[in-house]
Amino acid sequence: MALSEFDLIKHFFKRDLDQRNGIELGIGDDAAVVNVPAGQSLVMSMDTLVAGVHFPIDTPPDAIAYKALAVNLSDMAAMGAQPGWMLLGLTLPDADESWLAPFSHGLSCLADEYGVTLIGGDTTHGPLTITIQVNGLLPHGQALQRSGARAGDLIYVTGQLGDAGLGLKFVENNIDLDISPQRRDYFIQRLHRPTPRVTAGLALRGIATAAIDVSDGLLADLGHLVEASVVAATVNVEQLPIADELRVLSDEWWTLPLTAGDDYELCFTVAADNQAMVEKKLQEIDCPCYCIGRIEAGAGVKVKQGDETVRISSARGYQHFD
Ligand code: ADP
Ligand code: MG
Repeated sequence: MALSEFDLIKHFFKRDLDQRNGIELGIGDDAAVVNVPAGQSLVMSMDTLVAGVHFPIDTPPDAIAYKALAVNLSDMAAMGAQPGWMLLGLTLPDADESWLAPFSHGLSCLADEYGVTLIGGDTTHGPLTITIQVNGLLPHGQALQRSGARAGDLIYVTGQLGDAGLGLKFVENNIDLDISPQRRDYFIQRLHRPTPRVTAGLALRGIATAAIDVSDGLLADLGHLVEASVVAATVNVEQLPIADELRVLSDEWWTLPLTAGDDYELCFTVAADNQAMVEKKLQEIDCPCYCIGRIEAGAGVKVKQGDETVRISSARGYQHFD
């Protein structure tokens, strides 16, 4: 039975009003109302996923919901913000309950894990499109911006790079690699269910000089950071944290970790004097981090293997692996 728009919202998205997070009004009025505590700034970010563009149309609904929220939480992480509220813009081809039930379940599971409350949204009819606006808080003046890196700073990344890129190759069936089903599944999960580094972002407040999340590939995203900071970066491929499987893919094994997107790890810079402190802080929250290079005066991102400069063309990289 097709649901009306109001039944759909009531059934799948409205929950008892959450007393946390300073919410005065949630779903059900013309707009939501939240209170921002004194001394805090409101941080806002939005991402849209379009079926057939950002994910295959037959992707399981809970996986779509997970990723739609995870990519937004990753933006909060990259700002050092504590996420608190979200709005959901849902465009649906039909009000299919067998799609909506796992979608809303997937969304609320991840939202609960990060203490995020759905406070409103909009529901329309059309080709499947999911927009989430996530909102968070951080103390005034403490946002981790892209523009704060200075010559001499060390460049770090969390987690591993290239996992999601390899996962995509498995999903697209265009790689021939002798690998266990468990490891294959690990890479595919890294693509579908990235872990937003929210606690790492919070730990980096006041320490990182700049930060960005790696959504489009390290070279591209670090490129945005150095451009905003008006500096240059040198990355050494031997220091890139990668899975063993990536190393055997080709002679130019660094192409995937440098150019593939979707890892949603954080890339950040710190003053060299703070190296021990930042490593300790991230260790305390069990977030692996690796120093991969250094910020210098100049422009652009240089890649080195030992003393040799490595030339990377992402287009060539793609051809190479495809
Ligand atoms: P209006 O016509 O005043 O814009 P709507 O009918 O769009 O109101 O929405 C009614 C209420 O339901 C609002 O509080 C809105 O924020 C909420 N809402 C609508 N769609 C969604 C959704 N997909 N998820 C969460 N809340 C929603
Ligand atoms: Mg509306």
